[in-house]
Amino acid sequence: MSAQLIPIYDTTAPALDSYARRIDYLRISLTDRCNMRCVYCMPATGMQFMLKPELLTSEELLLVVRAAVAAGFRKVRLTGGEPSLRPDLVELVRAIKQAGIAHIAMTTNALSLQRQAQALKDAGLDRVNISIDSLDPQKFRQLTRGGSLEKVWAGIHQAEAVGLRPLKLNAVIVRGLNDDEVVQLAELTLHNPWEMRFIEVMPLTGVANVAEDGVVATAELIAQIEAVHGPMDDLGLAAADSARRYRIPGARGKLGFISAVTDPFCASCNRMRLTADGRLHLCLLRDDEVDLRAAIRRGASQREIEQIVRHAVALKPWGHGLPDGVLPTLRGMSALGG
Ligand code: SAM
Ligand code: SF4
Repeated sequence: MSAQLIPIYDTTAPALDSYARRIDYLRISLTDRCNMRCVYCMPATGMQFMLKPELLTSEELLLVVRAAVAAGFRKVRLTGGEPSLRPDLVELVRAIKQAGIAHIAMTTNALSLQRQAQALKDAGLDRVNISIDSLDPQKFRQLTRGGSLEKVWAGIHQAEAVGLRPLKLNAVIVRGLNDDEVVQLAELTLHNPWEMRFIEVMPLTGVANVAEDGVVATAELIAQIEAVHGPMDDLGLAAADSARRYRIPGARGKLGFISAVTDPFCASCNRMRLTADGRLHLCLLRDDEVDLRAAIRRGASQREIEQIVRHAVALKPWGHGLPDGVLPTLRGMSALGG
């Protein structure tokens, strides 16, 4: 997209989209590569990864972050692929914080978090979300095609120890794979002040077959948990969050349910995604994108990049096409960051 062809946006107010949603949360995919191959995220073989020259360099990425701050963005989440594979992760966290982002979180598979947590905390990382889809080491290895549950637990404990709190855990529930562990996963919150989040599997490119028969609706998960623990406290939908929250009576932690497929949260959506190759991806479940990298590489200034960010916000759609059978085809989840 050429910066000359877009309208001129007011730079004195935070960016609002055409539905008056304030978009102030940037989810940055640092790489599309990963050291696991979760069955609901990537196919076992045939993945085509981005080449290094296609990725935004750290300087390019920071230019986007500064432009986003100028457009009113306040929160960043680092994701991937696996963000911990980015060699300069700690320096990036520090620089993003210095650019004026108030809150930085990271979504990670935690395989290397035991080693990295302290440095990340010291650099300014506020919180982590850690993926844990099974409590059985053998099944975890199958679901992730090789991941070590032991390392994930070490990462969880280290994240807690260094103060990357409140800790959120993510589990994608897929029928026939781990829907028999929902109650056990939920029970992690009985004695820990964590938020255990259950995510409905989404039909992204490369794994649409897993999602086809795999979606377990939130209502069914809640029924499973309540059958054992009785009616839960409904804590509602926090502002600008994708999860509806509940608490098992007496539990220290909370449960969160992310029902993008059966109950989309478009009204509270405040997010925009930046892909590792420099595109603003406007909705997780649609293919619409705005190219920032081309503008950066033709020498656009921070003010021009800010205008393109504001334009992308203005173009942000409402609602996805899943109910009409319209699936996103451009990128898989590992290239989008969840
Ligand atoms: N590698 C990191 C991790 O797994 O936490 C970050 C990237 S991963 C793509 C971000 C989130 O997307 C994870 O919580 C993962 O479980 C979730 N995810 C991956 N594929 C999904 C799918 N098909 N449907 C729903 N969530 C998915
Ligand atoms: Fe890797 Fe995360 Fe995808 Fe699993 S969900 S394959 S850990 S990017």
